[in-house]
Amino acid sequence: MSSDLVATFRAATGRDPEGVFSAPGRVNLIGEHTDHNEGHVLPFAIDRRCRVAAGRRGDDIVTVRSAQEPGAPVTTTLEALDRARGWSAYALGTLWALREADPAITGGWDLVVDGDVPLGSGLSSSAALECAVALAIAELGGSDLDRHALARAGRRAENDVVGAPVGIMDQAASLLCRDGAALLLDCRTLHGEDVALGLDEVGLVTLVVDTRVRHDLADGGYADRRAACVAAAEALGVPALRDATPDMLGRLDGDLLRRARHVVTEEARVHRVVALLRDGRPADVGPELTASHASLRDDFEVSVPALDAVVAAALDAGALGARLVGGGFGGSALVLAPDAAAAEIGTAVARRAAAGGHPEPVVRAVRPAAGARREDVGLPG
Ligand code: ADP
Ligand code: MG
Repeated sequence: MSSDLVATFRAATGRDPEGVFSAPGRVNLIGEHTDHNEGHVLPFAIDRRCRVAAGRRGDDIVTVRSAQEPGAPVTTTLEALDRARGWSAYALGTLWALREADPAITGGWDLVVDGDVPLGSGLSSSAALECAVALAIAELGGSDLDRHALARAGRRAENDVVGAPVGIMDQAASLLCRDGAALLLDCRTLHGEDVALGLDEVGLVTLVVDTRVRHDLADGGYADRRAACVAAAEALGVPALRDATPDMLGRLDGDLLRRARHVVTEEARVHRVVALLRDGRPADVGPELTASHASLRDDFEVSVPALDAVVAAALDAGALGARLVGGGFGGSALVLAPDAAAAEIGTAVARRAAAGGHPEPVVRAVRPAAGARREDVGLPG
């Protein structure tokens, strides 16, 4: 694909790109709704990437094209970057945020994008695009910004230009993950630590099952859960629910109790999973994933029948654990399973979805992979 990208860049601009850069999508192994409570998450980068061929221009024009958006290329000026709309806002907004962070980044750019992270399936094609663009521009533009700063620029693009109130997990995972490892990310300090997964060695695979269900109440539901967490932290007198302990929960009741209990128990599950992985026991992570799902379903109340059906069918077909991933109200589930059971699980979730009157799910095997990098595509010079 990268050589096609170089050819597309040549055809579009009449010159070679100065470099090709790529960044992966991600999936969060565990730590759901802990990010906005300043807790921990444990994402890993996956073997699906967004690639960007980039070259500087001698003027103030910026062009961006994507194989996933085969309409006309988007052409704008440096001055108008933060007014970008639609898909190009992810790329142009990242350039805008980088320029805000580092005045050394000057001049116009040509950007050509192609990727294989599925769009809108919860594998973070958005961060893959932002992070590939960020690394390309920082390296070619001679910037000293480190990868944490690039992650912040990607997040800023999504918050301030796209208008999506996302945290920093996706960009941090895409830029900081190492091959074969998850990233234990402290969402308060942004401190990250590698945690080797060791799945291959013991014949385990991870599947991401997209239910293709997306509820209208997703955005309102998400805002409601965030507000409940803030209210629970206030009631407990802690800066964020990350600081709440299990014995404090007795001071809450009703919805606030359930929302807070999810966050407190989920934070504990993240640390148990890290301990299991460091102990070389990845198969024992399964029950923690399933417990996370039960907590998201019963206490945080963000599951839907299509997700519950995938989790139940996967477990019945031999999965070690499964849970909804992402904000909830639809989207995808993550399944941890022995390699030998993967095919049967794929059949079982499809059969269960049909029986429940849900859309046919899309099942993808994902493998832990390396974070953002420059691609060696044999460009001269
Ligand atoms: P997710 O990040 O889970 O895939 P989002 O809704 O956050 O879902 O981001 C998806 C959006 O990001 C797409 O609708 C599109 O606007 C943009 N996007 C991501 N990857 C690309 C790409 N390769 N080319 C063009 N736009 C992309
Ligand atoms: Mg996204």
